Amino acid sequence: MIYIYTGCMASGKTENAIDKILSFKEPFIVFQPSNNLRDKGFAKSRTGKSLPATRVNPHEDFLKIIAEKSKGYDIIGIEELFFFQKDRKKFIEFILKSSKKKEIVLPLPDYYFNGESIELLELLRPYSIVHTGESGLCEECGCLATRSQRLYKGKPEFFDAEKVVPESPKGTKSPFSYFPVCFKHWQVLPPKEDRLYPKYIKNYLNIKNLKFS
Ligand SMILES: [Zn+2]
Repeated sequence: MIYIYTGCMASGKTENAIDKILSFKEPFIVFQPSNNLRDKGFAKSRTGKSLPATRVNPHEDFLKIIAEKSKGYDIIGIEELFFFQKDRKKFIEFILKSSKKKEIVLPLPDYYFNGESIELLELLRPYSIVHTGESGLCEECGCLATRSQRLYKGKPEFFDAEKVVPESPKGTKSPFSYFPVCFKHWQVLPPKEDRLYPKYIKNYLNIKNLKFS
């Protein structure tokens, strides 16, 4: 079976995924993309729970490495699946095939900073048990958080800015910052490319307006 734990930042995804992995009471292996610089070698929840994680470079032959290293384990966790964009079709096939005999646990966000859905999540959704966490609070007002705000040098990002940017290790300087927000405090600037404006309307403006008209 495939278990997906999703939601915006601080919604308890990793915590719920760790609990699920441990609930099977069997040997497990957890993979983590090596460009995650925040929690090197550990799947870590914001409340402090953690599991050791094997780092895999998503720009190399990650599928072969994951297939090889997960042999003999019936419980497989993969963090931040959306970093593994190379060979998406083969990766989906691998997960679906593995899930016939194994338990696959995937903590990952439901939306990018700009409101577009995470493609790998949507492709796996029909075959998965999906749990959306709702424990995050907006850092601006304390209401329930529904999106992850991304800032670049303290300013909201343009809709068409690079979607996948790793979080930096704690205490290091990075031009990017992330925090959970409610719909009202979620800010995304219009795309620089005009042809993307309809997508901006669909994924951002319509959602904001529906909630606040
Ligand atoms: Zn708010």
